Amino acid sequence: MLVHICCSVDSHFFLEKLKNDFPEEKLTGFFYDPNIHPYSEYRLRYLDVERSCKKLDIDLLEGEYDFEAWMDAVRGLEKEPEKGKRCEVCFDKRFDVSAHKALELGEKKMTTTLLVSPLKSQEQLKRVGDEFYKKNGVEFIAVDYRSGGGTQDQSRVTKEEQLYRQDYCGCIYGLTMQRESQDKLMDEMFSPISNTVLPASIEERLSLYGYRMQLEDKGREYRIQKHKFLNYRQFTCKLTLGKSTPVAAYALSYSTLSRKRAEGRIEAEIDGIFYFNREEIRFITLEKFNFLTCKSFGSVKELIYNPLSYEEEAELRFKITKSIYDLTPIIVLEKIPDEKLTLTLDAKIYEDTKEKIIEI
Ligand code: SF4
Repeated sequence: MLVHICCSVDSHFFLEKLKNDFPEEKLTGFFYDPNIHPYSEYRLRYLDVERSCKKLDIDLLEGEYDFEAWMDAVRGLEKEPEKGKRCEVCFDKRFDVSAHKALELGEKKMTTTLLVSPLKSQEQLKRVGDEFYKKNGVEFIAVDYRSGGGTQDQSRVTKEEQLYRQDYCGCIYGLTMQRESQDKLMDEMFSPISNTVLPASIEERLSLYGYRMQLEDKGREYRIQKHKFLNYRQFTCKLTLGKSTPVAAYALSYSTLSRKRAEGRIEAEIDGIFYFNREEIRFITLEKFNFLTCKSFGSVKELIYNPLSYEEEAELRFKITKSIYDLTPIIVLEKIPDEKLTLTLDAKIYEDTKEKIIEI
């Protein structure tokens, strides 16, 4: 039987039950979810499904990430709410491609973990499945693992197995609406030109969940624990001499400017730290930066493309300000100008949670 899989939270519980109810069937998982955005999140969900299938000894196939075809299918439905028309098209597309995959593989039966999703009507899935059976001879197995306490069992399994619990359905449209209604930054969509792994980003989770698979392969015990912290995202940083001549400048992480723009001059220097006459801004030269961090960057541009880690920058900030709560804009320049300067810095600090692995 081919089993279309949407995510590990739905599939692990579903596959366990299916194995139990259909002991004679050889189950093959099929991960086909081009709706998931961004691609890093798609990889993360796939990774956790891979782990789950490995634990359950089920073969797993990966479908095509035909994201553009999915976008074409839902065109015109971008503004639909969750559970609306866009979701119907999204479910039907994933179902249809999976059913054709079953046909291609010569399977006689197929089903989908979308059946445990509270977003989808089981009756509608069954109707579509039965129509496909009539036309193509692949039987749709419409199991109901939701009722009779199934939903509670599913959350117990999710917790016990420490599955990756995503906090949005999958597509860019659903994510945008969710974050807007929560009045929350859509930090999933940040992708710095430097490829830095940002705190609590999808990339950070990818490496954490990859690491946990390594621990499991070695038989080591661990626990994934969440903790609260102050997160930071920088949108833009621009420095100009006067109002228009740009200067290469790098703002350390956790640099914030309440009005996003400040004009002024450097008015003092103490121990290689240059003080601006507005908004507590400080400047250091690249030479000073290299000295304090024991690095050897040749230019600010090089630093922009290969910045330090957030932890290293926090150490540097502490060396400069002697405070662990400091949010002063600290700007690195190749040389300190005499002219009037305009700094534009748009950045956000916000409360967030991130996961950590604790080895036991
Ligand atoms: S919200 Fe979820 S089900 Fe609806 S279209 Fe987006 S990914 Fe598909």
